[in-house]
Amino acid sequence: MPARAINELSLEGKKVLVRCDFNVPLDNGVITDSSRIDASLESIRYILGRGASAVLCSHLGRPKERTPELSLKPVADYLSQQLAKKVALAPDCIGEFCERMVKDLSPGEALLLENLRFHPEEEANDPDFSHELARGKQVYINDAFGSAHRAHASTVGVTRFLRERGAGFLMLRELRALRAVTEDPAHPYVLILGGAKVSDKIGVIKALLPKVNLMLIGGAMAYTFMKAHGMPVGKSRIEEDKVELARELFALAAQRRVSLVLPTDHVVASAPTADAQVEVVSTIPGDKMGLDIGPRTVDQFMQHLSTARTIVWNGPLGYFEIPQFAQGTLKVGEAVANLKEATSLIGGGDTAAALAHQAWSGNFTHISTGGGATLEYLEGTELPGVKALED
Ligand code: AMP
Repeated sequence: MPARAINELSLEGKKVLVRCDFNVPLDNGVITDSSRIDASLESIRYILGRGASAVLCSHLGRPKERTPELSLKPVADYLSQQLAKKVALAPDCIGEFCERMVKDLSPGEALLLENLRFHPEEEANDPDFSHELARGKQVYINDAFGSAHRAHASTVGVTRFLRERGAGFLMLRELRALRAVTEDPAHPYVLILGGAKVSDKIGVIKALLPKVNLMLIGGAMAYTFMKAHGMPVGKSRIEEDKVELARELFALAAQRRVSLVLPTDHVVASAPTADAQVEVVSTIPGDKMGLDIGPRTVDQFMQHLSTARTIVWNGPLGYFEIPQFAQGTLKVGEAVANLKEATSLIGGGDTAAALAHQAWSGNFTHISTGGGATLEYLEGTELPGVKALED
């Protein structure tokens, strides 16, 4: 049986354990991008509105033990503001004290458990820890798409102890968007790939080669492909040990009659700094590094995309963290967002960070909250967190 949706479960009067993805970027305890929290508010409001209590849990960062800087306190404060009611932070995610806090919750109230990863048992998918997490709750909702590719106690183990379970609205939206680009997608189908590492995207390239018509390649990974073609890359960031693999991918693409389109001009500088002297070149000089696609490449990519009906994008096309190297990503982003006829799926992580919060960002069909989970789904891997919701 496929996973049930949150609105197919009876919640009234129950204690609902909700696995959220509150793994937000923090700067000195201040949340710098709340998108992931905002994306879960619909499920939380729904649960509270059904007369149930929401016991929210999440990981934050990669602590191996209790680490005060990675407390979820800023998230509890943000949730209190957004929900216009106090969301207390429990001092831990398991234990007698937490159990009492959960028990004392009234219908319509929410409690946030402290960072799951303060316990190594979370990532180990430890059965005793899973059992403890489930204690005192009657329903389990997974809304943490960004963690669905991890078989952890709070995403998989806990489902053994909570038979009443289902997917939250965010999880449902993410899966719907992924199905739209994998099950019978409209053509032309264009995959845009960027970012630094070819190695992370081999699976997706191989899995999508039979499905797409074109792959547009930018970001640092383009230089590994250019090197495989014997083109000069100067001091650009490349993966030397993946050059051979890039050659094989070219051959595979040729067999499938899929074009891998590489940049034809580049924004280069001596170093990736905000005050670096930049120039646009067709051939990268030996002492310079490519840090963004150039304006001619932007035009060529836009031309290729103009007739696309399905677009999947993973990885920024330049060193977008520095504004003078973000232009390629933003210009192509705006063009994709404004294509009215195309279904566009923007992968999470850096791609979402680069393309969210623009005036036109709302025009993409979907911006995912999960980078790794999106990649694994597109590769054809079953996501353990989704599988565990099925009966
Ligand atoms: P990935 O995790 O592989 O998607 O890589 C994302 C990172 O790639 C971001 O931090 C970008 O700044 C970086 N990146 C993209 N283009 C370049 C480039 N031309 N040179 C160096 N880093 C880049």
